[in-house]
Amino acid sequence: MAKTNHIPVLIVGGGPTGLFLALSLSNLGIDCRVIEKNEAPTQHSRSIGIHPPSLELFDRLGLVKPFLQEGILIRKGHAYLNQSWIGMVGFDSLPAPHQYVLSLPQSQTETILEAACQEVDSSMVRRGVTLTSYETTQDGVRVHMQAAHGAKSTDGDVEEATCDILVGCDGKRSVVRELAGIAFNGSHYPDTYMMGDFEDTTPFGEDAMITLHQDGLVECFPLAKGRRRWVVKTAQYVDAPTEQELKEIVAHRTGFDLRQAQCTMTSSFGVQHYIAETFAKGRVVLAGDAAHVVSPIGGQGMNLGWLDGEALAKALHAFLSTQNERHLQDYSKRQRSIARQAGKRAEWNMRLGRSFKNRWVKRWMLYLFVRTPIQRVLAQLFTMQKLGAWRV
Ligand SMILES: Cc1cc2nc3c(=O)[nH]c(=O)nc-3n(C[C@H](O)[C@H](O)[C@H](O)COP(=O)(O)OP(=O)(O)OC[C@H]3O[C@@H](n4cnc5c(N)ncnc54)[C@H](O)[C@@H]3O)c2cc1C
Repeated sequence: MAKTNHIPVLIVGGGPTGLFLALSLSNLGIDCRVIEKNEAPTQHSRSIGIHPPSLELFDRLGLVKPFLQEGILIRKGHAYLNQSWIGMVGFDSLPAPHQYVLSLPQSQTETILEAACQEVDSSMVRRGVTLTSYETTQDGVRVHMQAAHGAKSTDGDVEEATCDILVGCDGKRSVVRELAGIAFNGSHYPDTYMMGDFEDTTPFGEDAMITLHQDGLVECFPLAKGRRRWVVKTAQYVDAPTEQELKEIVAHRTGFDLRQAQCTMTSSFGVQHYIAETFAKGRVVLAGDAAHVVSPIGGQGMNLGWLDGEALAKALHAFLSTQNERHLQDYSKRQRSIARQAGKRAEWNMRLGRSFKNRWVKRWMLYLFVRTPIQRVLAQLFTMQKLGAWRV
């Protein structure tokens, strides 16, 4: 028979949200475990933008140093309309000390967070362990897990544990959310994109670049080791994009010739917006993509997960000392509101990059955004400042 362990907080999912939540909880003295179904960290670099509010959270946990050492500090971005340079958005008006967006592939971000967890407690993260089901009991949750061969299983491949609180940080297809019967409301946008990482052959150095072209957006961001991430809007979803397709679109819309640039990754993505009807049901709580999915254009999804993590750690601290579920409901209400605000900002970013017919309207819009004081507001909105300052 499977042995049953008790863990105050069990986190399902060792992505950016789950790992950060574990560190925030242990910083408050709360014992927790993370189970992650993948046996090795992801190699996919999907998310790259880390915004100043997240860097402040890392600062408070003493984590920021490795991020700054490995990432690139983006302090400004150039704006083009078709191939004409219109101006620049700088981040120097943001509150100190982090007046930049940090560029770091998600795989490295997860590696840094997991190493920090290991440093606190080498058994905090268990890889190769999948949550298969759970049931709520009178004073907690009983979970059933499957350990892959090679995972340090306590008693065979099937395990049981009880916990006071179960947190689903298990991504947009969250099993925790599904088993809790929490609806995930939203839809797909028609927008589709291709992206790829190339050797950097542009003159932009550590700056970002955005081109609004009549056929659709092109963005590019610096990556460490002399590489650059290119993202282009496409008319429809391209299943397995080739580097040639990406190079042709970039050349046509921006004039940059990537023919000689070595490519290390290409992929495509569609865009969705979903939000869970509640982030807390009894002793089951959601955070990160399990709770909300926003458009990756504007790069806010992972950062939102960290804002959830910080708020949830405080709510769990209050709940575990009072047993009052109001703390969990307050967490749900506030973070839902923040996620909806961020979703609207991301949607606005995405609409700006759609193809257009009237060049003059776009030109004036872009001119206002980068050549007038509106630039400061734009820099704030883009870098996730003041989220939660008002309710939606
Ligand atoms: C192309 C692209 C670019 C993006 N760029 C940005 C960006 O620049 N900035 C930004 O902020 N966001 C960006 N995002 C969004 C970002 O990648 C996500 O918001 C982020 O990964 C969410 O983190 P998470 O930990 O909540 O979920 P996930 O990263 O999905 O992690 C969930 C984890 O749970 C594990 N899991 C699932 N089910 C189980 C189970 N039953 N048992 C155990 N483990 C389980 C999974 O293996 C996974 O490791 C981008 C997304 C895409 C697609």
